[in-house]
Amino acid sequence: MNINIVKGTHDIFDDDARAFEYIEMVLKAVAEMYSFQQMRTPILEHTELFTRSVGESSDIVRKEMYTFLDKGDRSVTLRPELTAGVMRSIVTNKLYATKDLPIKAYYVGPAFRYERPQAGRFRQFNQFGIESVGVSSPYHDLECIMMGYDALRLLGFKNINLKINSLGDQESRNRYREALKEYFAKHIDDMCADCKERFNINPLRILDCKVPNDQKIAEGAPKMQDYLTPEAKARFEIITKTLDEYEIPYEIDNSLVRGLDYYSHIIFEFHYTTANGLNVGAVGAGGHYDNLLSEVGGPSLSGVGLALGIERLFAVMKDDNLLKNEKLDTDLYVMPIGEDSIKDAFGIAQILRANAYKVEICLENKSFKQLFKRAENMNAKLAVIVGENEIKNNEVVLKDLHTQKQVTIPLSNLLNTLDLMFMEGEEEHHHCDCGCEDEHHHHEEE
Ligand code: ATP
Ligand code: MG
Repeated sequence: MNINIVKGTHDIFDDDARAFEYIEMVLKAVAEMYSFQQMRTPILEHTELFTRSVGESSDIVRKEMYTFLDKGDRSVTLRPELTAGVMRSIVTNKLYATKDLPIKAYYVGPAFRYERPQAGRFRQFNQFGIESVGVSSPYHDLECIMMGYDALRLLGFKNINLKINSLGDQESRNRYREALKEYFAKHIDDMCADCKERFNINPLRILDCKVPNDQKIAEGAPKMQDYLTPEAKARFEIITKTLDEYEIPYEIDNSLVRGLDYYSHIIFEFHYTTANGLNVGAVGAGGHYDNLLSEVGGPSLSGVGLALGIERLFAVMKDDNLLKNEKLDTDLYVMPIGEDSIKDAFGIAQILRANAYKVEICLENKSFKQLFKRAENMNAKLAVIVGENEIKNNEVVLKDLHTQKQVTIPLSNLLNTLDLMFMEGEEEHHHCDCGCEDEHHHHEEE
């Protein structure tokens, strides 16, 4: 019987797995340039953590969580995002009291949402993110946006579409919510069932509705910008002015409200469309929050965070051909010729691996033709051929799989010969800048 993969999940292997690793490596490196440190939190948390932090009115809590009772009848949830766990960890470990503020953490790992699977939307997917908690300066918000922008640039993205909006402070949002209620009260009868629910719990959520008719109605709604308090407006202006100064293009999007309940002030999303027109939705998003830490039992400290979806980054990078070098290149393919040579060939492979070569060996009795086909499939540079004769004479045959040139060398010279060959291979890639034609011309260091 076939056991199928769980709907909305996916396997990642070979070149794709290397590409994921590459993306994560770049993101980590940029996060470390901004002095964020890694934090690993559990995939499983108490359900209450998410209802309190992500919020009762969010789509995530209302319909997307993988929640179940464990054997002890406790309600637990597979994390739908990683910010909540970081906040819980800051409280659990009292990091707010023992570390200098802000606490700057980055994370990477799987998240789970019960959504309708489609392009760029999975039920298990990977997020990379940062949180900066404990200092409320708008420059921390900027640092977070710029870290995301730098990371995308380093991954090769050219026309990043940064959308921003301000949700203001509590007072701004109270004023705005009243204005929205007044506006939508006239239209709510014609809107979807979700919006009717949103109207009661959080009318801001209506702006996020994807139903075309509802979007049209939302277009005529009052704009958040007009309800910001002077303080909230000034804070937003520091951010837009600084983005201008650093020539980071952005678009103020009044309909941007974000899917989580905890944001205040700046919120943002990174969008990207490939040359072929592929757009899988936001590749990353985030914002500032004021009550998140206190909501999960910590002191009242502000923070800002950003989360990027690795699957979406991967999808657009693949489509734009930004993932070119993600092949595992095997250095050496060791070929035992005949059953009796396998033991000796195995020993040679182990010596080569101990000397940091990337080595594959065929441990079955295969024909020359099959062996060379396999070496080619592995993209190996050299074949190390070990036959009965070679073993008898303490020799091996080295064959360059690109030029087809081969040499027989004493086993005792194998490592030296390989070191020289691989060193030369590396030098050939460096172009001589004196303009000479001789590719073996090496310049003395000056
Ligand atoms: P969307 O509006 O597309 O549903 P979201 O606002 O729910 O996104 P966030 O909670 O902000 O997403 O998560 C941060 C990032 O994680 C998103 O920008 C996206 O790149 C990625 N992401 C979110 N949900 C999924 C999913 N179901 N599958 C793959 N990636 C996802
Ligand atoms: Mg969503």
